[in-house]
Amino acid sequence: MHLILMGPQGSGKGTQAGRLAPRLGLVLVATGDLFRRAIAAETALGHQIKAAYDRGELISDDLTVALVEEKLDELSAERALGTGVAGALYDGFPRTRLQADALDAALTRREEAISTVIQIDVPRQTLVNRLAGRRVCTICDTVYHIEFNPPREEGVCDRCGGEVRQRPDDTPAAIEKRLDLYELETAPLLAHYRDRGLMAVVNGVQAIDLVTRDIERAVKGTATTR
Ligand code: ADP
Ligand code: ADP
Ligand code: ZN
Repeated sequence: MHLILMGPQGSGKGTQAGRLAPRLGLVLVATGDLFRRAIAAETALGHQIKAAYDRGELISDDLTVALVEEKLDELSAERALGTGVAGALYDGFPRTRLQADALDAALTRREEAISTVIQIDVPRQTLVNRLAGRRVCTICDTVYHIEFNPPREEGVCDRCGGEVRQRPDDTPAAIEKRLDLYELETAPLLAHYRDRGLMAVVNGVQAIDLVTRDIERAVKGTATTR
């Protein structure tokens, strides 16, 4: 199964992905998390992308696709070992038409295909409020909100005890820029997947648990078993 979560920044993709991946037995492919790791670890990739990342700009399609291909190779290796991984869950990828086409090609080469694309629907004003209060664990990427979903102890991750912090790119200016980029580059992909009959829309303005429930229902209703 290859499940894509789509929706603007703040729609809850990361929150839902963290809950759904273990429940559905999927490997999480969250390109934003992978880029943040690379920057924190000061890898060659990290140095290459830091400036664009900090400005809230998209990383080049070449680098992004290469990173995802690496994850798909890891997935194939795990499956070859007979682990129970059922597929992958994509959060924040694809964001451009070129990335979408590259993902199709990469899956076709592996004799696999996208099962379902979930669009999490949330209006823009709600997004800005959510992003301004977002906090993220620096170790395990669990997503919190200072008001809507706070950790039990302020600044400490419930799951791993890591430090929970605001992301440096969650400033008002970078948030507006990323939302504009979403409209420009990523929103057109929704029609692309809808036309292929792969899309299910879920109402993202309800309690986190209910959004998870609706996504699971949509997955069961539409997904092929590949
Ligand atoms: P948000 O959803 O708030 O933008 P993400 O964690 O998904 O946060 O992404 C953070 C940053 O990582 C983006 O602003 C961009 O620089 C980079 N990034 C993540 N995914 C992609 C992608 N698919 N293509 C290009 N850049 C990406
Ligand atoms: P995305 O990955 O799409 O950018 P996140 O999962 O990071 O979105 O969520 C953005 C912010 O909104 C986080 O602070 C998160 O805790 C909060 N959030 C996510 N889902 C909900 C929800 N259903 N109701 C209220 N707040 C939410
Ligand atoms: Zn953590």
